[in-house]
Amino acid sequence: MQIIRAKINEILEEAKKDYGIGDKIKVVLKPMKVKAASVSLKKGIVRLNKNIVDPEDDVLLRYLIYHELAHYKLKSKYHTRDFYELLYSKIGREQAVAAEEKIIRRFTEIRD
Ligand SMILES: [Zn+2]
Repeated sequence: MQIIRAKINEILEEAKKDYGIGDKIKVVLKPMKVKAASVSLKKGIVRLNKNIVDPEDDVLLRYLIYHELAHYKLKSKYHTRDFYELLYSKIGREQAVAAEEKIIRRFTEIRD
């Protein structure tokens, strides 16, 4: 758990700088049923699904944090064109698509 916290904090700081977000953002790890991650736009809290994140998988962790912070930056929960443009400008489309596929696989593994 220590290793993953350190990684989360590192990626969080990088993402905040990248997006120009000055607000305090808190990241919590908790088990969730259907989502890989979520964000509270008002409170600035990012929730990561404990069952999905893997301390060894920085690409996935990075994707989830950048995804949720893109919602926060745009103050929108929707996956609009602007949303994907912003996200892909930061992490690249290919890496994002690979991470999304990984998430789907992880959910399948958990359910089996
Ligand atoms: Zn989203």
